[in-house]
Parts: sequence; C-alpha cells; structure tokens
Amino acid sequence: MNMNKLVPIFTSSNEKGLSMKQILLFAIWILAAQLSAQVADASFCQQELTDAIFARIKGKSYKEHCTIPRSDLRYLQVLHYNKEGEVLQGELICHKTIADDLLAIFRELYQAKYPIERMVLVDEYDADDEASMRANNSSAFNFRYISGTKTLSRHSRGMAIDINPLYNPYVRYRGGRTLVEPANAQAYVDRTKDFPYKIVKGDLCYRLFKKYGFTWGGDWKNSKDYQHFEKR
Ligand SMILES: [Zn+2]
Repeated sequence: MNMNKLVPIFTSSNEKGLSMKQILLFAIWILAAQLSAQVADASFCQQELTDAIFARIKGKSYKEHCTIPRSDLRYLQVLHYNKEGEVLQGELICHKTIADDLLAIFRELYQAKYPIERMVLVDEYDADDEASMRANNSSAFNFRYISGTKTLSRHSRGMAIDINPLYNPYVRYRGGRTLVEPANAQAYVDRTKDFPYKIVKGDLCYRLFKKYGFTWGGDWKNSKDYQHFEKR
C-alpha cells in the first residue's frame, strides 16, 4: 500500500535526478571540450626570440656570421603525435613570413594525428644537421650551406623545414654513387617499401605544405630530399 505511493515517487525522483545528472555531465563535457580546444590553441603559438631562446641558438644554428636578423625569426611551439599515438610538445625556429603557415599546417597534422617522432631545436644537436637527422628530429632554421656546396641552404633563412628526416633522407647521385643523408637512412632510400614516418607524394603532409605554397624536395629531378619542404 505504502509501496504504491513510494514507487512512483522514487521513480520520478530518480528520473529527475538522472536527467539533472545528464545535464551536468553534458555541461562538463562542453566545458572540457572548450578547455581542451583552448589548450590546443595555446599550444600552437609563435613569439619573437627572447634572450633565453636566443642564448640557446647563438653560436650554434645562429652562427657568428649569420646574415639574417634575429628579429626576422620566430620561435614556434606546436603539439604533435608520434607513431605510438603519444602527444608531444614540439618546438622550432623559422622565418617570420612562414610562421603562420607552419602553425596552420602543424595544427592540421595534429588534428589528423599525423606522426612526427621528434621536434626540438637543431641546437640540441649543436646545430649538427647529420646528428639531428639521425635522431629523426624535424627542424627548420639552421644557418648552413647546402651539403657539398657553398650555397646557403633555404634553412639559413628559416624558409625550409625537414620532417621526419631519418625516414625521408636526402639522396644524391654522384659519379655512379648514391649519397644518403643521414648516413643511417640507407634502408629508407627505396621508396616502394613500407615503413613508418614515410612522406609520399599526395599524402596529408605533402598536400598541406603544397596548399601553403611550399615545394617538396621529393619532386626535385637531380636529387631527392624527401624530408624537405621550402618556400620562396
Ligand atoms: Zn631541408
């Protein structure tokens, strides 16, 4: 008898409680989504080179005779995934004219969970390009000459970037010999093979850089620089 009364009351209060709970959960979910969007956005940012940042590159990628003004360079922070699906904080230095392009590209790569293994300043390797490439480190600015020449690389102005360089080596052919940089990338010269971090013409990485007006070293005729995207 009492139960008859109790049950509907209990049911109604339970339903009410549940819907309040649902509303609360929904509100929390929206807040969390907004917060994570804000965090993600704050994680894709650029700034001028502070004294602390400049101290990291002076005498390394920013050499004594560097002809590019410090004020033309920007320090970027982005998020990226590796192939294990972990989210990592990446950093790089580039020319101010391509900073917005790179932020947009890396934001899209992040959203697509495109794998990039490592992105720290080349100065962590004493601006030694070979050492940085061997570690599969993606990087942009480095005041240096094109390997084997006296011509300044587009990296010298921060107008070029190398992505996953170990798996996307720079391959040159000289007098019947094949020169591969980094030297530990021999296994990745054959582009018909399947392996992680490989950049292929038409893939997302390629399409995004093309969309923002970059050219790809994999399209070069006399040599192939599969890691390299540059803008003029
Ligand atoms: Zn390059």
